[in-house]
Parts: sequence; structure tokens; C-alpha cells
Amino acid sequence: MAYRTVNPYNNEVVKEYPFATDIQLGETLAESDATYRAMKKQPISERAKILHNVAAKLREHEDELARACTIDMGKLIGESKGEVELVAIIADWFADHGEELLQPEEVDTIATGHAEIQKHATGVIMMVEPWNFPYYQIMRVFAPNFMVGNTMILKHAANTPTSAQMFCDVVAEAGAPKGSLTNLFLSYDQVGEAIADPRVQGVALTGSERGGTAVAEAAGKNLKKNTMELGGMDPFIVLGDANMDDVADITWRARLYNTGQVCTSSKRFIVMDNVYDEFVDTLKDKFSKVQPGDPLDPATSLAPMNTEKAKNKLQGQLDEAIAAGAKVEYGNEPIDLPGQFFKPTILTNISKNNPAYDTELFGPIACVYKVHSEQEAIDLANDNPYGLGGIVFAGDEDHGAEVASQIETGMVFVNNFMSTLPELPFGGVKLSGYGREMSHIGEEAFINQQLIVKTAKPNMNNLAGGLVATDPQPKKLSKTK
Ligand code: NAP
Repeated sequence: MAYRTVNPYNNEVVKEYPFATDIQLGETLAESDATYRAMKKQPISERAKILHNVAAKLREHEDELARACTIDMGKLIGESKGEVELVAIIADWFADHGEELLQPEEVDTIATGHAEIQKHATGVIMMVEPWNFPYYQIMRVFAPNFMVGNTMILKHAANTPTSAQMFCDVVAEAGAPKGSLTNLFLSYDQVGEAIADPRVQGVALTGSERGGTAVAEAAGKNLKKNTMELGGMDPFIVLGDANMDDVADITWRARLYNTGQVCTSSKRFIVMDNVYDEFVDTLKDKFSKVQPGDPLDPATSLAPMNTEKAKNKLQGQLDEAIAAGAKVEYGNEPIDLPGQFFKPTILTNISKNNPAYDTELFGPIACVYKVHSEQEAIDLANDNPYGLGGIVFAGDEDHGAEVASQIETGMVFVNNFMSTLPELPFGGVKLSGYGREMSHIGEEAFINQQLIVKTAKPNMNNLAGGLVATDPQPKKLSKTK
């Protein structure tokens, strides 16, 4: 797909970008590798200063960055500004904590001498990112790896090229060495070529199963370590004793934030029978109050979807779900605006053989299920090909946490909206992928955990595991010589 910014509010083609040439890719690989080698000699504290400066520059350019993001993919301007602030927070956090997280770890061992695990950079990371959070997805990989000393080549989504380039320009303006993060408008084949290059030592992808499978296959074929942050069908469980005012306040946001185009959007609402009717009525009411309009206008509360293709795909999935017996409680009507608007929709009566039961609906459609026991709620949450996040609302948060720990996902929030912060690991299980980004775990995603054992002299009485050749000339024999 060509790289171009098409404003999904009015369908205007704002800017097109040519694909990178093979020569550009070759030069970037060489430059990224040279910068990785140069950064090995640089104290981490220097990179911490630059990363703080990246945060400052992001804040300084907040208005332009937010506007570019909204025009690229349609996000409400307030949400775009929130995203810029979030990426600045992430940069500051890794700048503050990165050095400490990369200190060697001493190992308590029976081996002779002193053993420690040192944490070293490994090389160039190929990152492939989606359009739904154009800046946040880059920062989740950039901040920890920049502190480590890895360098990065970015292939961003075809529909958010302006945001991708602006982010990298801000990083450069903040003083990051050339080659530490390079945006290239790569074809899929070129991504494969980069992954096969020996200078590339890691691959990070956030996206769909389709993109994830292709890129993980290339990484596997070339034995490159990789992390996959893929889709989700996050359960939102409402137990019978939940505070329904809090539920009302959170539910619609959990589904409509970023026009429902979030991997961790709540996509499967599982509600106990005694509060089910109230839940559905309140959700209808909340959905009916959002105002579609220009996402650059702060008064708008329903943004368009990111592309015409995405909207058409979602409508197709909704039609299929209805044909398979789902009941429309609210929505499924056109919005009379030229942009890619999709009316928030509520579906119930979704049977197990309905495609909507186990397919990710990446937009403002809420699937609601009634259950009669807590166990039924947990079973329904887990009968799910994905395992990314989830929310549990319970009268008692400790009991909510007991339920949460039985849910087969990477992250669960009790009595609150799912949120993301640099200190919290982000990632999932099952078809939602593997590996974690952010936090101390994300910091170590692409490092060489190098074991160093040092001793002044060998001690033959204390050899770990006996993994040593038997002396061909035992001492006794040599004495009698
Ligand atoms: P996508 O199609 O997989 O695209 C994601 C990125 O992968 C884009 O840069 C895309 O480039 C690239 N790509 C796709 N196929 C490729 C291939 N064969 N070779 C190289 N690159 C390839 O994902 P999407 O549908 O746009 O994004 C939404 C999905 O991402 C949803 O499923 C959502 O749940 C998931 N997501 C997950 C997380 C998480 O952290 N777990 C966060 C956000 C989103 P092009 O744009 O050029 O196709």
C-alpha cells in the first residue's frame, strides 16, 4: 500500500510519500549499525539526557504533533494531545530508570568466583508499527531500546506517514545521534530484507495477526528474536455487586476511546444477570450522547474511523454477525457525514458459532453477554482466541482481583479503565502475541544478558556441574615419573 495521509474526516489526500529505495535501506542499515557501535562507548547517562530532551521537545511540539496525528488517522484532538503527553511521560520514565534497570545482576552460585549478568545492547532493531497510536507505539520500543543502546529502523503504517516522520524528526531535533531511529517508507519485501540482514538483531511488531504472522515468519526464518503485540478481544466482566455508577462511567469509554480502535478496547462485555438490563440501558444512553464531527474540534466526541477500508471491513463484520443471529440493541445506522464515521453499535444474542464471537471487531461495536454465575463469566472470558487485557468490576476489589487472576490474558484492571504507563508491562498471551513492551521487562526485550564469571585463579575442586575434561595425566602418575 502507498504511504499517504488521507484525512478520514473529509477524505482529502493531504500528502503522498514515495517508497524508500533499496539504496536508502542499505545506507540506513550501515548508519544504524555504526551508531550502535558508537553508542557502546558512550555512558548511558548521556542517552538519558537526550531522552529527557526528547520528552521536552515532544511537549514543545505538542500542538503540531497532535494535529498531524488527527489528520493522519482521525483521532479526537484531545486524545491526540493526551497521546503526545503520554509519550513524553514514557521518555522521561526510561530516562530516569533505564540506567538503574541495566545494572549488572549478581548471581548467587556455587561456581568459583563472582558471577554476574551484564546487560548489553545487541544491534539494530527493526520495528513495524500500526496507525492506531502513531506516537505511543513508536515510543514503547524507542525509549527502552535507546537507553539500552540499540538503534532502530521504523516501518510505520501506510496511513500514518506524516506522524511517523514528525516523531523521528523530533527525536533528531532533541539531539539523538543520527541512525538511532530512522523512519523509512519500506515495502513489505524490504522489511523482510532488513530482517534478514545480519546487523538487525531484533524485530518488534505491533499489529494484526496478518502482519504479525508475516513478520514473525521472517524473523523465525532468520533466527531473530522478536516480540509480537497483536490483537485482542478483551473481556469486561461486571459482577452482580459492582458499583453500577462506576460501570456506567467507564463502559462506554472502554469501548469508544480512539473510536474503539484499540487493542485493549473492551470488546466482550460479560454481565451478571441481576444487573444486565441496567447495563444495556445505560450503555445505549451513553452511546446515544456522543457527537460525531470534525476531530480537530474539541467539542466533537465521536471521531471517524481511520480509513474507508477499516470502516467497510467493520460494516461487513457487523452484517455477518447480524446474519448469524446477533440482535442489534442500538446503532447500525449510517452517520450523515462524508468522513469515515461509524455509529456506535450494541450487539446481544451472539451465539458461539457467530463470527462476532471470536473475531476482533476493531471499531465501536460492543458485544454484550448475559451470565448467571461468576464461573460462567470466567469461562466465557477465557473461551477466547486472544489474551491481551481485561477489566473486572466487583463490589470488593480483592475479590475482583481473585477473578482477574483466573482470566487468561496478559493484563487485567479491577474497577477501572485499562491504562498504560511506562512502569507497567504491556502485552498478552494466545493470539495476542508474546513478549512485553515497557517496564523493566520491555527494557530487557532486546539485550544480551551476558554471564561473566570471574576468579583470580582456577579452582579444580569447585567446577560447576563437573563440566570439565578428565585430566589426561593424573597428578599421581606425573609424580612417579
Ligand atoms: P497490520 O495490518 O498488521 O499493520 C501493522 C503494521 O504491520 C503496519 O505497519 C503494516 O504496514 C505492517 N505490515 C502488515 N503486513 C505486513 C507484512 N506482511 N510485512 C511487513 N509489514 C507488514 O495491523 P492493523 O490492522 O493496521 O492494526 C490494528 C491491529 O493491531 C489490531 O488487531 C490491534 O488489536 C492490533 N494492535 C495491537 C496492539 C498491542 O499492543 N497488542 C496495539 C495496537 C494495535 P502497512 O500499513 O503498510 O500495511
